[in-house]
Amino acid sequence: MGDNTIKGTVIVGAGQAALSCSSKLRALGYEKPITLIGEEDFPPYQRPPLSKAYLLNETGREDLFLRPSSFYEDQNISLKLGQRVEAIDPAAKSLTVGGDVVEYENLVLATGTTPRRLPAAAGGDLGNCFTIRSIADIDRLAPHVRKGQRLLVIGGGYIGLEVAAVAVKLGLEVTLVEASERILQRVAAPETSDYFRKLHSERGVRILESTSLERLEGEGTVSGATLANGETLAADFVVLGIGVTANAELAEQAGLSVENGIRTNEKGQTSDPSIWSIGDCASFPHERGQIRLESVGHAIDHGNLVAANIMEQDKSYVAKPWFWSDQYEVKLQIAGLNTGYDNVVVRKSDDIVQSVWYYEGDRLLAVDAMNDARAYMVGKRLIESGKSPSKDMVSDLSIDLKALLKA
Ligand code: FAD
Repeated sequence: MGDNTIKGTVIVGAGQAALSCSSKLRALGYEKPITLIGEEDFPPYQRPPLSKAYLLNETGREDLFLRPSSFYEDQNISLKLGQRVEAIDPAAKSLTVGGDVVEYENLVLATGTTPRRLPAAAGGDLGNCFTIRSIADIDRLAPHVRKGQRLLVIGGGYIGLEVAAVAVKLGLEVTLVEASERILQRVAAPETSDYFRKLHSERGVRILESTSLERLEGEGTVSGATLANGETLAADFVVLGIGVTANAELAEQAGLSVENGIRTNEKGQTSDPSIWSIGDCASFPHERGQIRLESVGHAIDHGNLVAANIMEQDKSYVAKPWFWSDQYEVKLQIAGLNTGYDNVVVRKSDDIVQSVWYYEGDRLLAVDAMNDARAYMVGKRLIESGKSPSKDMVSDLSIDLKALLKA
């Protein structure tokens, strides 16, 4: 890097949250140096299209970039790409990267997550077994996504389902194995799982729920899998969608508190007051505990929050969770956080246009809206203003959703 004293604000990780924090700092009038250090070779880019339009080859690489390179020059934000930060020394307020020592006044950890892999004993080290987090991951995977190939997806979460949808669209034979009782079990109600199971099954995805993988088979590269029930499957390649781990090693080695990711307080500050953490890698206090959110909306808001607090605005984070997923022609939009729900109400216009409303008692927590932008929009406004519509009104199709806002 050649420059051994940088100071100002240094951000580790050059993803969505890092971009948000750095651009907000400039917008708020921060005049000191801002440096983003990222181990990937690319400037901050959108990850959601990786398992959607980018895998489908409907969007080019440059279209993923969140800002053109001129933005960073104009904003005087320095990008150090292709460089991995190796260690932090909180006492010296410095970090080590590529043999250089970089000093900071404020350090922001925005290191994201790493997809889980299978242990080698279960065949996790075989070739043609992919995870999806980065452009490089898709560039490795894409040549295999060809008509007639047999794809085995392990894990029925959003990424696994999105990849299955892309693959079926491109004419592959797809089997998806989910160890839990149902797909999306960790994140959604049975009603939402039912909706997506039906959607995928009708398109030809073979979904096996309550089915654990024993191991992947093959010599050098994957040729199939043995399931816990003894069934064997042939496969040309495998995509793992079995969750992620927060990248908290740097923080841990530096002696910072780690709890469900890098622990921060309501201001986004870690246990060291000069070190902040944002986005997927950071946990923060919430009425449900010390939680982490993995979404674009959160990465943007959390990055903005920490920028404001570096500018000494003393703001506390109020999470407004929202998320989306695209599968075939269905757009799922989620508002709120359903953790703690004990009952749901379904508003069903037809097989495709539906919404699932999550309640804890009579309190509305979250909405899953399938091809129903109006339900999403109304649900989000209700949740953010702390209002809970009556369940009878929600399920009654003769009542215009907008009326719920006035009730
Ligand atoms: P990231 O964007 O992951 O950036 C972290 C960066 O830090 C990475 O580039 C990493 O390489 C780098 N890094 C880590 N350690 C170091 C180090 N020591 N030194 C230097 N650099 C380091 N969200 C939605 O809301 N909707 C969606 O539909 C959706 N779909 C998704 C689909 C896919 C395939 C994936 C992978 C994610 C999806 N997400 C979606 C989630 C969303 O992309 C993330 O929540 C968001 O990117 C988080 O931003 P971040 O800046 O916290 O982390």
